[in-house]
Amino acid sequence: MCGIVGYIGKKRDNVETLIDGLKRLEYRGYDSAGIAVIENGGIRSIKSTGKVAELQQKILADWNHHNKPDTSIGIAHTRWATHGAPTHDNAHPHIDDTGRFALVHNGIIENYAALKKQLQLKGHVFKSETDSEVLVHLIAELFDGDLMQAVAASLKQLEGTFGITVISLDSPDSLVVARRGSPIVIGVGDEESIVASDVSALIAYTKRVIYLDDDDIALVSAEGIEIRNIDNVPVSREIAKVDWSSDAAEKGGYEHFMLKEMYEQPEAISNATRGRLDRKMATGMMNGLGFSPKNLAEINRIVIAACGTSMHAGMVGEYYFEDLASIPTEIEQAAEFRYRNPIIEPNSLLLAISQSGETADTLAAVREAINKGATVASICNVVGSTIARETGRGVYLHAGPEIGVASTKAFTCQVTVLLMIALKFGRNRRLATEEGVRLIDEIENIPALVTEVLNDAAKIEEIARKYVYAEDMFFIGRGYLYPAALEGALKIKEISYIHAEGYHAAELKHGPIALLEEKVPVVALANDIPGKDKIIGNMQECKARKSPVIATATVGDDSIREHADDIIWLPECSKYVAPIISVVALQFFSYYFAKLRGCSIDQPRNLAKSVTVE
Ligand code: GLU
Repeated sequence: MCGIVGYIGKKRDNVETLIDGLKRLEYRGYDSAGIAVIENGGIRSIKSTGKVAELQQKILADWNHHNKPDTSIGIAHTRWATHGAPTHDNAHPHIDDTGRFALVHNGIIENYAALKKQLQLKGHVFKSETDSEVLVHLIAELFDGDLMQAVAASLKQLEGTFGITVISLDSPDSLVVARRGSPIVIGVGDEESIVASDVSALIAYTKRVIYLDDDDIALVSAEGIEIRNIDNVPVSREIAKVDWSSDAAEKGGYEHFMLKEMYEQPEAISNATRGRLDRKMATGMMNGLGFSPKNLAEINRIVIAACGTSMHAGMVGEYYFEDLASIPTEIEQAAEFRYRNPIIEPNSLLLAISQSGETADTLAAVREAINKGATVASICNVVGSTIARETGRGVYLHAGPEIGVASTKAFTCQVTVLLMIALKFGRNRRLATEEGVRLIDEIENIPALVTEVLNDAAKIEEIARKYVYAEDMFFIGRGYLYPAALEGALKIKEISYIHAEGYHAAELKHGPIALLEEKVPVVALANDIPGKDKIIGNMQECKARKSPVIATATVGDDSIREHADDIIWLPECSKYVAPIISVVALQFFSYYFAKLRGCSIDQPRNLAKSVTVE
């Protein structure tokens, strides 16, 4: 989920405009940054690892002090790595062998390996490990005097998602931009044009914008814009007027990053599953795990180590591995694992889960397991992070950067990835082909189900409003919804500062029920999956102590009505998917509590995004 900016015109300092745009897009990724401009018939580029400020320093030290480029056209990029570590060589822009084309890309090119092989056979030499670089070579290969046509012909060969901006020495007066799945917006100025991943980068220069549709390709010059579809047929797109402030624009118009990230979940989950489900073999296809079928069959125990929200995702994983693959699995709080001399054998797999890939306790657990001779693998969101590197094998979430401190999209992607890994293990053991196919159907349907929950957010807000007085709450669940209850309670604590306890519904009467009274609402996860009948009994126990009961339930399951004061209706799904959609509903529930109570949602007190201390 990178940030792209392109500028063409003579009205302002090109390099400064590009850097300013990148800074506004930094929320989209900050692994590395780079810029390329056309000057004196050549492409001049500079790249840096780290944040945009580091690129800026490099530009100041190099270009400005020696000879500042005299240019009216340039492109820039701030990267959030998906393919290849966040190194200098993997930073964008990518330039072809002839030095005539430069490209920045946002998205994932799924068939890049096959394209790369073909291009290498034709003599192209690659300088990076990214998927993106294939596209600039392909454009150079297919160029026949018309850049737009070369881009169209290249894009026809691509599978995956892209938002791109390309410059070429052969057409130094225009940029070519295109999109499929990843956003690109064109800012229409007066004798200048600026393109970007979102309006926050261009709002300071113009409020007149054109949003491209998928498979649109635009030739953008300082004087005008020409748009064609991928078949080279001219299309017209309206110029819209943006009325956002620049602050709102960075959050894509959402009030908080957390809210934005909650709404990004269908897309994030699609990214996490893209290219990773093999229908023919009815299994998960996660090459980063690097297990042969024989290796998989040898694993006889899984220990999942994680902290916080990732630990709750891991708890769902424990159910998946046992249910689908019959592998004895335990979830361990990572700090506990490292200090209690764990028993771990060569055929055990330690699976570490961490959004940032830097969580200190999880990293220590990984090192402890490696030291004990276990096989280790990780599920991280940040490419090239320490845990990802030290485990050497694993699965990236591809969820895009998570800025809000309270984790949302990382959780739903972690659970989805765990389900795909369990499918892979399951198919290696006892799952029949048709069961595998059924699971693939369910996994592919998760984004649509999550969208249904998002569409009902207003109803969740209404319920939150009713209970906003609460100072104590309980969240209860069973089976697959037990970890979801813990995650719901954690979200409420993190952002609304309400004291909340997540419990297994059966555990309530072993002590905590003593705290129930009419001012203490109980959220009961009563979706129509195994365990529902039992939780109805637990809801009755709560009502008998005068606690208001808020239930999550499956649309159409009227049996819940008489046991709950309020109901969050959720779409019908299997037990495997139920924790994902239930947690999405509970994220909204906590978000609205926090908002109604005036809390600092994106930066809750005392918390940090990446916990790198023990
Ligand atoms: N796949 C590209 C890379 O790894 C772009 C990443 C993205 O847009 O998130 O460099």
